[in-house]
Amino acid sequence: MKFADRFRAPPETRIRLADCDPDGTADYASKKDARKALKRVTRRLTELQYLLYAENKRGFLIVLQGMDASGKDGTIRHVMRGVNPQGTRVTSFKKPSVEELDHDFLWRIHRAMPRRGDIGIFNRSHYEDVLVVRVHDLVPQHVWSQRYDQINAFEKNLAENGIVILKFFLHISKEEQKKRFEDRLANPTRHWKISPADFEERQFWDQYTEAFEEVLTRCSTECAPWYVIPANRKWFRNLAVASIIVERLESLDMRFPEPSFDVSEIRID
Ligand code: AMP
Ligand code: MG
Repeated sequence: MKFADRFRAPPETRIRLADCDPDGTADYASKKDARKALKRVTRRLTELQYLLYAENKRGFLIVLQGMDASGKDGTIRHVMRGVNPQGTRVTSFKKPSVEELDHDFLWRIHRAMPRRGDIGIFNRSHYEDVLVVRVHDLVPQHVWSQRYDQINAFEKNLAENGIVILKFFLHISKEEQKKRFEDRLANPTRHWKISPADFEERQFWDQYTEAFEEVLTRCSTECAPWYVIPANRKWFRNLAVASIIVERLESLDMRFPEPSFDVSEIRID
């Protein structure tokens, strides 16, 4: 079975994260098997990115979301290892700036869209505007509650204009988050990654879970599906995300463009 079919959140279906196992590893019994498979998949990703770039017809957008310490950065590091930096752009969305707040919430998102031929990776995204914003009442409910439909319309528009969209929710358990925070505390080279605010956010775990469930239930669409990735085991998370990206790229049936000249007539002296 394809990874995409296994982990796609079906459209218009109520998602409960308690029913999704964050420890899942599909048919992979060991890290060693998965690592070998990941090597193969990332090699294929390198070839497909080359083709995407050469074809220059569509942009390819990868959205990563998840709780703090769910592995958004690690996924980017491991999955995108083999891709050509020319043709890839990572955008990390932080708290909106004063300028960004002066615009509608999708303004900064639209500006970061990959061009045709490029892969764009979003580390956090417009979904923060129905996640952190909802959990902390940063705007009134009547404002954020309209955003699910606005996001679906926005993504549909992008898809119809040549952007392929894949969205990944990296699903970890609350215990796994605790372990990762403790590891960070114990390792001085990881201290830069933590802020006391992250630990405070942990108190809102249930509210975030509810907010994510609403996103996965309402915004997984045919043209912009969400995938719920078991992410307690990093090696499986990397393999699942990389495989789904490759499966989607394969499905585009890309071709190198025909040369606009007769190759056999060229003489190089
Ligand atoms: P990090 O990913 O650790 O660099 O943290 C980025 C921070 O920016 C997180 O705490 C996010 O919740 C926050 N953030 C991202 N987008 C928004 C947004 N639209 N509104 C408020 N906070 C946001
Ligand atoms: Mg962080």
